[in-house]
Amino acid sequence: MAKITFIGLGNMGAPMASNLVKAGHQVTVFDLSASAVEALVSEGASSAESGKAAAEGAECVITMLPAGKHVEAVYLGEEGLLSALPEGTLVIDSSTIAPETARSVAEEATAKGLAFIDAPVSGGVGGAKAGTLTFICGGEASTFERAKPILEDMGKNIFHAGPFGAGQVAKICNNMLLAILMAGTSEALALGAKNGLDPAVLSEVMKQSSGGNWALNVYNPWPGVMEGVPASRNYEGGFLVNLMTKDLGLAFDNAVTNQASIPMGSLARNLFQLHAGQGNGELDFSSILRLFQPE
Ligand code: NAD
Repeated sequence: MAKITFIGLGNMGAPMASNLVKAGHQVTVFDLSASAVEALVSEGASSAESGKAAAEGAECVITMLPAGKHVEAVYLGEEGLLSALPEGTLVIDSSTIAPETARSVAEEATAKGLAFIDAPVSGGVGGAKAGTLTFICGGEASTFERAKPILEDMGKNIFHAGPFGAGQVAKICNNMLLAILMAGTSEALALGAKNGLDPAVLSEVMKQSSGGNWALNVYNPWPGVMEGVPASRNYEGGFLVNLMTKDLGLAFDNAVTNQASIPMGSLARNLFQLHAGQGNGELDFSSILRLFQPE
């Protein structure tokens, strides 16, 4: 069992850290939110005054932060973790951030003798709680092999996508597709409902037909159609519109850099941006349904 420091105990990080505690690791946690830290301490984790203090003596540091600027703030600079950690420490960043940011943190980590991988996740809060997340890793093969047993305590499918930043590229592509699928699923359900169809019946029909997809199968956006999903609890928890908008922005920036054409992703980005601008940024992303079916 390893001595692990976990920083960032939000919707995803809290259940991930909890699974590491359950697996028997010695986990020290830090978050800017005292209540998030307290919840993990009540489950058996230790706490510290700062990220740096939490990382003292750790064999492995894992971060699960909102965006690139938070990751840079935690790792870089004189007060950053990379300057404090002893050589050889395994550093895993599971936040979804720009591949360029992941590469620059990785380069600095490598220069300091640390073993870094970017390891963003897919599977949502449900997957984080159940320990069935997909980890998509970028970095050296030897670091991936070191990280794998720890990631397996939080996830089911652990992929090595390629060099530094590759995990983030794959994650951005996945989330762009997810946004397109969620907006499209919402549009189709709203059209059916306008024709008088029961959204539950229509969902079942499309699930068994060629329109079936992840949004329909496990994350239905229509309130009351599926139990246990954000749509059935006023779109609370889950994956926030603000975070999806961030990921679509990452996809857009990446497409510009690589001169790639992403017409569907750009439209999805605009739809989610519009939805966020209407005051829905803190709701789960399946609330995009409200653009098509105002309550
Ligand atoms: P969240 O906003 O719920 O949690 C982020 C946590 O980080 C908060 O508790 C915040 O207090 C903490 N934090 C911020 N800055 C910090 C700092 N400097 N030091 C310590 N703690 C700090 O976000 P989330 O939903 O848990 O998502 C985290 C990451 O995972 C994001 O990059 C997101 O895009 C990605 N992601 C989320 C989901 C999902 O379904 N929610 C799914 C896959 C990937």
